[in-house]
Amino acid sequence: MSKLSVTRQVCTRIPTPHGDFQLCFYSNTLDNKEHLALYMGDPSSAPAVLARVHSECFTGDVLGSRRCDCGEQLDRAMAKVAEAGCGVILYLRQEGRGIGLLEKLRAYNLQDKGYDTVDANLMLGHAADSRDYTLAALMLQDLGVESISLMTNNPAKIKALESAGINVARRVSLAVPANTDNADYLMTKALRMEHMLPLNASPNESLSLKTANGR
Ligand SMILES: [Zn+2]
Repeated sequence: MSKLSVTRQVCTRIPTPHGDFQLCFYSNTLDNKEHLALYMGDPSSAPAVLARVHSECFTGDVLGSRRCDCGEQLDRAMAKVAEAGCGVILYLRQEGRGIGLLEKLRAYNLQDKGYDTVDANLMLGHAADSRDYTLAALMLQDLGVESISLMTNNPAKIKALESAGINVARRVSLAVPANTDNADYLMTKALRMEHMLPLNASPNESLSLKTANGR
């Protein structure tokens, strides 16, 4: 396979509730997907710039589904970037941990039968997590970013970005409060996928997760 590359096709101003961002559309030599970068300020000028590498979640990001924490994590990441005045959020089109929307929706039905997110994926013949961060590293490098403060709870993502050539100088926690619909999902992330989420088990079996910074 020829060497992977990304091309920034266009950037434009997007006014959001968190302020004005620049949204850049990337094409690439790996897939036909529309990977995006959303940034504020000049990410290339900041050492260890605040960054989020977000994988698309139609149900969470667009519909506000309470099955997962994706939409809230994206919103929180945008708020943190706005607060810092500088930062970059990559929006990667790898829906459903890389298995696509169709298979993710099938996995949801298995989850409603009692299987957790990992087992549901395995039953459908997928890996627990099929995401790849090679393009993310190339997009960051294209934006002049070599070193980041990564907003994530996922150690696998840190490892993958580092092996793709991005220095993760620091991790910024992005834990969001659990609700009754996503508590099991978050618990599976913590227990089976090594996500760094603070788990609080209360005596009456309702397991809750709270933000690391106490908010
Ligand atoms: Zn989600």
